[in-house]
Amino acid sequence: MPSMKYVIEPPAQAVISVAGTDALFPVRRIWCIGRNYAEHAREMGHDPNREPPFFFQKPSDAVVANRSTLRFPAKTRDLHHEIELVVAIGKAGRNIAVGQALEHVFGYAVGLDMTRRDLQNEAKKLQRPWEMGKSFDESCPVTAIVPASRTGHLRKGAIWLKVNGETRQSGDLGQQIWQVDEAIAYLSSYVALQPGDLIMTGTPAGVGPCKPGDRLEGHIDGLEELIVSYIE
Ligand code: MN
Repeated sequence: MPSMKYVIEPPAQAVISVAGTDALFPVRRIWCIGRNYAEHAREMGHDPNREPPFFFQKPSDAVVANRSTLRFPAKTRDLHHEIELVVAIGKAGRNIAVGQALEHVFGYAVGLDMTRRDLQNEAKKLQRPWEMGKSFDESCPVTAIVPASRTGHLRKGAIWLKVNGETRQSGDLGQQIWQVDEAIAYLSSYVALQPGDLIMTGTPAGVGPCKPGDRLEGHIDGLEELIVSYIE
């Protein structure tokens, strides 16, 4: 085969650093679970007991490194924070059994599923896709990934978010309707998972608006603190 070349410079691979190392985790797909904590499902006007999980995607290049300063996104008057446990997939699989699911996890991180809530609400009302509400530039700040070999698998532990030092979201990973192993099994029955995939596992109650100049600080027990700020 003759050597081939690209007609344009290929786009940069999106990456997340691995905590305590020089290594990088290459990001492939970002899958996000909607409404995975009962209280958050209720605050969004849904009955958490009757709905199986559903998923949407962010593009891999929506990832932003921890401690970044972000531009306030365009076209929104209602930018919401959603603090989430991020699962980094290290091993491929499809139709993964719940009992084997955690073998596919490379590690865990703290992430924000930033949401242009006004655009998402408009899309819901018009029965249109959510991309402009969810999948915009810099919509996915993530900390360095802590390998599961170091942190163990996370089923319980505090998860909270502060804006300018004030607690807005607070919950426990144990409140997830679909735990990590179940989410992996369910998602892998619809699409093949590959190393590099991320799963954002939903947000606890207390989502709310951010404004230019805000400083967001996110926490999950055992992981790095996530800190990002919006330009004034
Ligand atoms: Mn979310």
